[in-house]
Amino acid sequence: MSILDKEHLRANLDEVIWNIEQARITVSEHHIVKLVTVAKYTELENISTLYELGQRAFGENQVQQLKERMEALDALPLEWHMIGTLQKNKINNLIDLRPTLMQSLDSVELANELNKKLLLKETKMNCLLQINAANEESKSGVSSEEAVDLYQTIKETCPQINLKGVMTIGAHSEETKLIQQSFETTHSIYEKLEKDGATICSMGMSSDYELAIKCGSNLVRIGSALFK
Ligand SMILES: *Cc1c(COP(=O)(O)O)cnc(C)c1O
Repeated sequence: MSILDKEHLRANLDEVIWNIEQARITVSEHHIVKLVTVAKYTELENISTLYELGQRAFGENQVQQLKERMEALDALPLEWHMIGTLQKNKINNLIDLRPTLMQSLDSVELANELNKKLLLKETKMNCLLQINAANEESKSGVSSEEAVDLYQTIKETCPQINLKGVMTIGAHSEETKLIQQSFETTHSIYEKLEKDGATICSMGMSSDYELAIKCGSNLVRIGSALFK
């Protein structure tokens, strides 16, 4: 980790935005993609510099780190996304932080716990259902077979949770075909859920965001490509 100067970060950001642009116009002129900067590996200073360069949405994968950074950068009008596995004992802390979007709702059990605690605090949270599209043991998320049913179940039984769509992490593979398949699977689930109000299909990280966008992603989560 190191503090990068503004011109260095500007060049990285320009490159990523250019690549996003190239990928999104292959889908449609009207296909808009949101960039969430994943700040987990980087210094606070780099987040403020990216803010000066126009970036507004940032993601963290740990509640504690999210809290520290939100507090430190409280003066800036940033939006914060939780993108990592949420431990049950951290639910109340996350609720108090009022994140813009919790992208990693990965089971019905977690949804029920979260709903209960949101109700006690008389508040709501925007969430994405995380899908384990390649059925990998190492990853959290619901299976692609059950995803549509579980999404509807959560929608009906957890009124404090505003489900906004789906999130996946691309298959961990050297084979582009397998990564592509995991994105296509997730996107087809997203399309089925559009009638239930889903508007966000979060797929794509530094190594695979162009492919993800071509498969229909409208939100990419990018860390290392910005901080190299
Ligand atoms: C770390 C992380 C990212 C960003 O990863 P990079 O490969 O550095 O772009 C995206 N999504 C999730 C869920 C992450 O944990």
